[in-house]
Amino acid sequence: MPELPEVETTRRGIEPYLIGRKFIDCNTKNTNLRIRFNKNLLNNIYGSEIIKVIRVAKYLKVILNNNYSLVFHLGMTGFLRIAKHFTIQKHDHLIFKTDDNTNLIFNDSRRFGLCKIIKPNEKFKLLENNGPDPFQEIATGDYLYKIIKNRTANIKAVLLNNKIISGIGNIYACEILWDTRINPRRKAKRLSKKQCTKIIKSAKEILTRAINSGGTTLKDYFNADLQSGYFKIELKAYDREGEGCKRCSGKIKRIVQANRSTFFCSKCQTK
Ligand SMILES: [Zn+2]
Repeated sequence: MPELPEVETTRRGIEPYLIGRKFIDCNTKNTNLRIRFNKNLLNNIYGSEIIKVIRVAKYLKVILNNNYSLVFHLGMTGFLRIAKHFTIQKHDHLIFKTDDNTNLIFNDSRRFGLCKIIKPNEKFKLLENNGPDPFQEIATGDYLYKIIKNRTANIKAVLLNNKIISGIGNIYACEILWDTRINPRRKAKRLSKKQCTKIIKSAKEILTRAINSGGTTLKDYFNADLQSGYFKIELKAYDREGEGCKRCSGKIKRIVQANRSTFFCSKCQTK
């Protein structure tokens, strides 16, 4: 599943080809996505200049100068690519063409992703209901501490809860907890403000490392006919069940929390 680093790298990959351009056409091969793509709204985005592409949590928003925007979520298997000349691949659902014959192509084999045209001032619930991602200014240790101080859920579940903090998937939740030595079973309300500050700091560092490791794949967003894979950061906990901890003599254990695997070291993640 594309996580925040992949989404941010996608943003960086596609933005340079879109700024200053205008969409002039869209080949809607399949509108049956997680929510149906409303092609009746397409006329509203044609001919308006693209100002920028921003990322909000794991959503990408292409902003136009008439205040309409085009929002994408990559779901489980979605990806975007840019191409001038290309052959249509299986699962290329939406192909947006710009005035310089560049195409922005949305491909998604499992169709859990979505694309939506947002009207000026329209609130898009899926987007508005998200808490801040770790890079947003309001995502401080203080913010996290206040919002979780009455939560009886474990900290692992809290980190995966997009309403509290968005953009942290299962892999990075495990890595952040390993990095901060916090036991994933710890009740959120038992964490100190200092630990909350550490979590935010660690989240930013780990996600930045992943974004940077994806930087080398940026060129793949142009004329790419292949799906980009996961970024290779050295994982300290995730998917390392039975292997030695990289910090102590313990072994990484796997437990299941809320139907998701959690990997951690019970010897040094005791805080
Ligand atoms: Zn350890």
